[in-house]
Amino acid sequence: MAKDKAKTKTEMKPQVEGKEWWVDSKGKRIDGRSVTDLRDITIKAGVLPNADGSCYLEWGQNKVLVSVHGPRECLPKHQANPYKATVRYNYRMATFSVTERKNPRPGRREVEISKVSGEALERAIFLEKFPNTAIDIFVEVLDANAGTRIACLTAAAVAVADAGIPMRDLVTGITVGRAEGNAIIDLNKHEEDAPDAVDMAVAFLPNSKEVVLLQMDGEMTSKEFENLMEMAADNASKVYELQKAALKESVLSKSPEQIPGMDEVTDTGAPRMEAMSEEEQEMLKPRDPMAFHGHEFEEETKIEPKPAKKGKKDPKKADETIDEDSGEDYSDMERDAYDGGKE
Ligand code: ADP
Repeated sequence: MAKDKAKTKTEMKPQVEGKEWWVDSKGKRIDGRSVTDLRDITIKAGVLPNADGSCYLEWGQNKVLVSVHGPRECLPKHQANPYKATVRYNYRMATFSVTERKNPRPGRREVEISKVSGEALERAIFLEKFPNTAIDIFVEVLDANAGTRIACLTAAAVAVADAGIPMRDLVTGITVGRAEGNAIIDLNKHEEDAPDAVDMAVAFLPNSKEVVLLQMDGEMTSKEFENLMEMAADNASKVYELQKAALKESVLSKSPEQIPGMDEVTDTGAPRMEAMSEEEQEMLKPRDPMAFHGHEFEEETKIEPKPAKKGKKDPKKADETIDEDSGEDYSDMERDAYDGGKE
């Protein structure tokens, strides 16, 4: 299980002498983190045997479970795209995931998070390889304490990779923002509720640093925005390392038959012949470059060279140039100049 380095946790005391606080004079937050500390993150891939890919992620108090199914036949058919796979991302919060019972009916917030998160993942998946199919991603928030959309998207990227779906890159998310005038990363619920709070969810393709999701609550200056984006990019790489470690651990714990696509390649990664159709096998057979693959030439084709015209190229001297006015050969002149220069 990929886990962030254990950090000393202190008991959350959001109030001191009846007064709320967010960051103390030493730069410590109510949960003992510094302004650039992430909460503890634990990621485990391949946790649901009935899914094609899955992931369980804990991010501080947030606990999320993701299950991926597909690419599979897209039903209802009107949702199918003849050019690429359709990603259907379903973000849901369990009724027991927050202190007051959450209405089980999906609300506008869940519909919005599902839409933007699915679109972020679309940037990472090679959708065009799977026309007319659906990739279904079910995301359940079991326990919530701010930053759930980012926790879910980070877990969903791992689950998609765990399903063996070809991707350009993973998707790595992080939240950054402001509380009591301090720029901080990975806000908890208390920090999100600060009077001057800014809460910004960002997700990257971690290798290209392409931003695939950006949402913000609150107001800030463009300078603050630049600073927060820099903090997000710098710290997202820590999350990316944990995603990769979780995937590696999951792959190493599986036998080759359990890894999607492994039955089609040999130990060296070369295509396995038995897994291919006869036509594909034929295409991969080594060929004699001098053989014309059964094509017989009935008679030899003779190509007569055309006589050279003044001002035109002589086909026998294809690389030489004739001056249109003087009829002199440039290449001779150039060769002389070159030889002269050499001496
Ligand atoms: P995110 O979880 O991505 O930060 P929001 O900013 O909308 O998304 O929500 C912040 C936090 O508010 C959630 O993580 C959760 O702890 C809490 N929350 C969200 N929806 C509800 C709800 N319907 N009832 C109670 N708490 C909620």
